[in-house]
Amino acid sequence: MPEKKRQSKRNTSGSTTATKKKKCKKASTNKEISERQQRILEIRKSLAQQKEQLLQEAGSALNTLPDENAFPDMGDQATAEIDRNFMLRLRGREQRLLKKIELAMERIDNGTYGICEICGCEIGIKRLEARPVTTMCIECKTEQEEEEKIIES
Ligand SMILES: [Zn+2]
Repeated sequence: MPEKKRQSKRNTSGSTTATKKKKCKKASTNKEISERQQRILEIRKSLAQQKEQLLQEAGSALNTLPDENAFPDMGDQATAEIDRNFMLRLRGREQRLLKKIELAMERIDNGTYGICEICGCEIGIKRLEARPVTTMCIECKTEQEEEEKIIES
């Protein structure tokens, strides 16, 4: 078969939200793109560390439980059960953060990271470095917060 299908890692179709007219700033040159990729990889590393830390903290809390030795080797199902219990014991806030971290790492792995889920534009790398789990660009985030304020008031 002569046709060579290359899977595009970046979602270039973009404009699903056609109601807003917004100019996307985008890394365009190879240099810009590879620099962005590089910095995203750094973000991934720090996310992995943060995740590790969260799990460790949760783990040490778990170790204080009396039934810690109550899990003989019962295979995957048991492990899944333990994982689930473990997740339940993570406090809500940490659990949400952990979920966000995992999703961010997933997006990095499948190449959709750093794209605003509202407008489809690239999220500025500085914003990503400051708030790695964000899924919105600063404009959309600001807009959303203003809408929330209106709803709350
Ligand atoms: Zn946006």
